[in-house]
Amino acid sequence: MRTQVEAIAEVHQRIHEAIADLRQEMTALSLDIHQHPELSMEEYETAKKLKAKLADNGFEVSGVEDLPTAFVGRAGSGESPRIAFLLEYDALPEIGHACGHNLISTGGLTAALALKRALGDDFPGTVLAIGTPGEEGAGGKIIEIEKGVFEGVDAALMFHPGDRTIPWRHATATAHLQIQFFGKAAHAAGNPQEGRNALAAMIQFYVAIDGLRQHIPETARIHGIITHGGAAPNVVPDYTAASFLVRALTREGVLELVERVKACAEAAALATGTRTEVTHAGPLYAERKNNHTIATRVADYLQAQGIEVEVPVLKGGTGSSDIGNVSLILPAIHPYLQIAPRGTAGHSHAFREAAGSPEAQERMLQMAEALAKTGADLLLEPGFLDKVWEEFRTSGPDFPA
Ligand SMILES: [Zn+2]
Ligand SMILES: [Zn+2]
Repeated sequence: MRTQVEAIAEVHQRIHEAIADLRQEMTALSLDIHQHPELSMEEYETAKKLKAKLADNGFEVSGVEDLPTAFVGRAGSGESPRIAFLLEYDALPEIGHACGHNLISTGGLTAALALKRALGDDFPGTVLAIGTPGEEGAGGKIIEIEKGVFEGVDAALMFHPGDRTIPWRHATATAHLQIQFFGKAAHAAGNPQEGRNALAAMIQFYVAIDGLRQHIPETARIHGIITHGGAAPNVVPDYTAASFLVRALTREGVLELVERVKACAEAAALATGTRTEVTHAGPLYAERKNNHTIATRVADYLQAQGIEVEVPVLKGGTGSSDIGNVSLILPAIHPYLQIAPRGTAGHSHAFREAAGSPEAQERMLQMAEALAKTGADLLLEPGFLDKVWEEFRTSGPDFPA
């Protein structure tokens, strides 16, 4: 009789073959997405392309209420275990796919398609491909959690392109703030004494943040831009606005810092006779709880394909992602895949170029294979998903030592 081990090995072999079959089509799709970047929550054409591939391959595709660029592709019985691949596809203003989300979406899609093909028509459980829009600030996954998209999902798998391959790392929690100052317009030369200068307030706020920054935890980050600085040089600006990110190791830490940022804004308003409003411009991104049991398995399958996986060194401040919020409610992974030379910064022109390189597309397919094989294990290997959940129940987020 065929053993369970042999059956899983056969599925793995079929995944390998399916990825080879999908290679050209998926490379073309990734490059197409790369060349047609769409901003957070405006990824209409990209979502359409991804949904079409899912539908063409026998996935049942549905939308998510109030999130026109989100979607859920479903294959299998609908029953547990439900294994989800998460697809991010938003780009950045002006700099395009400098976070490489073309690779995340196409790689996740490839994994879902390959796993379904390898499992055939009749398999236990469900394969999901969840389109998660607006990672760059709008928190698409957090809204999806609220809409129940992740209810009943047993594990969520995704990856992120980077300058090294590591199975996990910590990520900061983040608040996205809008800071506004309301002053009084007046002729800047004729009667400035009548005016109250919202730009002067903004500049004081900005300088106050520079002063604050010296006295926050090493792992925290506060950074932002002025989005509205006035309308004309001969008008005392009566309105200014800024967009800021406040990051710390935990959501509690973020909220404490937000109070200190508010104090900076209030002080600037008081000094300039203006009024300030500090509001949250998006949902709070949570710290990240990587499931090491799943991530180690993915790392094994990357190494088996000749990819060097480094031991992560957790230190300092980092970026943030809404995968953090998902990772606190169910086992999730967010490994990094090297697609650019060591030291290449994310959100840079160099990183955007790397995300469109032939080498990155090959790497993406190797990651898709590792993710799909891990998905197969979660569905088929006795006891594996139990081990994953045991870790989830007994461990916390990753933090730097
Ligand atoms: Zn990203
Ligand atoms: Zn990014």
